[in-house]
Amino acid sequence: MEYSIQESQELLHQLGVPRIQNETLQSQKKTWNREKLNENNDWIIQKKKLKEYESSSEVAKDFLNRVYNDENYIRWSLEQSNGTKRKIARGANAKNWKNNGEWFCDSLHFSENIYSNLGKQKWTKSGNHGKQDTPCIEDQCTIITKQGRRCNRSKMDNYHICTQHFNMLN
Ligand SMILES: [Zn+2]
Repeated sequence: MEYSIQESQELLHQLGVPRIQNETLQSQKKTWNREKLNENNDWIIQKKKLKEYESSSEVAKDFLNRVYNDENYIRWSLEQSNGTKRKIARGANAKNWKNNGEWFCDSLHFSENIYSNLGKQKWTKSGNHGKQDTPCIEDQCTIITKQGRRCNRSKMDNYHICTQHFNMLN
């Protein structure tokens, strides 16, 4: 016969054993602060390694590729798919790293945090591929388009407009 934690505690309490405080349960609670994610041996990729991947990645995509090529990640991925499917990619909103909204592993949660942080930093590091995303306002081309919106490309170094508008005006 199996008992739940609560039932076991209740039985022990009836036998005169003091109740265990809820600390153990609370420490397992999921949190969004990445530094509070406590590493344990179940982590698919160790925290140290993820931080290495982070610091060697220029953009979020690089980081993701390093994760995908991590041998422990590959092993986990194969286990998940019983060896039949190809590697598990993150998926939109990291849906493939979750099961019913719960992270498969905190290391994936940690990876997601790094991934989204790198995504945010993208425009402070480089400003040349202005098409994909809106750069920070200081780095943004000052031209107002025909549609009445501010051009969302990055301005060229030492100019206040982007390459495309520069070519159009010169
Ligand atoms: Zn422009």
